[in-house]
Amino acid sequence: MNVILLGMPGAGKGTQAAILEKRTGMKHVASGDMFRTAVNNGTPLGLLAKQYLDNGELVPDDVVIGMVLERISQPDCANGVIFDGFPRTPEQARALEEALRGRGQRIDAVLLLTVPEEVLIQRVVGRRTCRNCQAAYNIYYFPPEQEGVCNRCGGDLYQRSDDTVETVKHRLEVYAAQTSPLIDYYRAQVLLHEIEGTGEIDSVTQKLLQALKMDNQVETTTEA
Ligand code: AMP
Repeated sequence: MNVILLGMPGAGKGTQAAILEKRTGMKHVASGDMFRTAVNNGTPLGLLAKQYLDNGELVPDDVVIGMVLERISQPDCANGVIFDGFPRTPEQARALEEALRGRGQRIDAVLLLTVPEEVLIQRVVGRRTCRNCQAAYNIYYFPPEQEGVCNRCGGDLYQRSDDTVETVKHRLEVYAAQTSPLIDYYRAQVLLHEIEGTGEIDSVTQKLLQALKMDNQVETTTEA
């Protein structure tokens, strides 16, 4: 099964994808995490991507597409993928579809996490990310057990350079202009499930699993 998590910055895609990976066995593939790792390691990809990340702009399609398609061709992605932060443009969506089609696969569901804009900004500004394993925390809603230290791996927590109020406002504009057309695109393919991303992390996970029919609880989600 291949699933796309769609939503604005701070909607909870990374948090939920990490949980879904554990619960379903699908592989969590996060293009933003891949770029941040490349930036931290100073690779050519990282050097190229850094300016885009810092300015809250999208990395050019050909770069992102090449990176993600290479990643999902690896054996650990064979049981299915949860895409987090990809695709972000119609061109990326088409490239993904084509690549999956080439392997006799397809996108099975697109889960759109919806969160009011004022909540998004506070979530993003409070976010702290593990330098080592990329786990996400929030100083207001989901603090680590020990300040500045990752619960999962003991790595250092830091604030992403693009998680400032100014940059997040720009990222929201970029989402509206370049990524939001994907909502109608997937709705037209009857793949879209809209899930409210506010409330407890566990209850959002339940709704996502339910939309994927991987949970037997009976509770209605808004299906487009
Ligand atoms: P994220 O961690 O998903 O919020 O992504 C952080 C940043 O990485 C974005 O603001 C972009 O600069 C870059 N990025 C991540 N995924 C993509 C993508 N699919 N297309 C273009 N740029 C991306």
